[in-house]
Amino acid sequence: MPSPEPEGQLHTGGPPVIELRGLHAAYGRIEVVHGIDLSLGAGRVLALLGPNGAGKSTVLAVASGRLVPSRGCFHVLGRHVNGIAPEVLARAGICTIPEGRAVFPNLTVAENLRMMTYTGKALREVQARAYDRFPRLAERRAQLAGTLSGGEQQMLAMARALASEPAALLLDEISMGLAPLIVDELYELIADIATQGVAVLLTEQFARAALGVATEVALMAQGRIVAQGTPGEIPSDLAASYLGSAGGGGAGSPKVA
Ligand code: ATP
Repeated sequence: MPSPEPEGQLHTGGPPVIELRGLHAAYGRIEVVHGIDLSLGAGRVLALLGPNGAGKSTVLAVASGRLVPSRGCFHVLGRHVNGIAPEVLARAGICTIPEGRAVFPNLTVAENLRMMTYTGKALREVQARAYDRFPRLAERRAQLAGTLSGGEQQMLAMARALASEPAALLLDEISMGLAPLIVDELYELIADIATQGVAVLLTEQFARAALGVATEVALMAQGRIVAQGTPGEIPSDLAASYLGSAGGGGAGSPKVA
């Protein structure tokens, strides 16, 4: 069995960063994901789209190691990782920002970043990297994270996630509760992160912004993938049924009749 490449490296060749094959997932005895296949390479952005309850967050829970698949295979960089603990997966380069963000509200921006030195990176390096990519955080370094705007908290969560130089970044519904302009700004940052070689797997219920940066789309409904491909390859009738008006949005979105 091939082992993962060393931590902290970007992966531009070899096996997919994340691969799910014939994946089933259940909560107790109730199966909610019924056999899906997904493959995500370095520098790619895969948007998992679909209506409420489609199973998007459940797939992300499996890919982050929080939920063990009931059947099927989960590979990271060619290594079979079913049942491996989230912290071990994180060390192998899978970094997750759960729905609702992941910042410590009673700590300042700088303190939130300082906590990421547990990854072995020097504080100066963590801060320089974060403030360079997210200048807005530099301006607010002494502010309590809980008092940041929703978009800024999301940026801080991303900055913390990127401190460990992950191979993959998993994002659950980052647009939740945010204004469209802020969402667009976050998605521009995501596109930029992907150009650095990070594989991005994200879920969205509101597809417009995600479709603008996604290189691949998987449309989910009732625990199954109903269409998959580049944004332009998703059949227009399916996009219209499952994504509504968002499917007919801006550049890069699926064609809608
Ligand atoms: P949303 O966009 O509303 O977050 P989703 O596509 O992410 O939806 P999931 O959250 O993955 O969907 O939920 C898929 C199904 O699994 C739903 O029917 C949901 O009720 C169920 N489910 C999710 N989490 C749990 C849980 N912890 N225990 C039991 N059932 C759950």
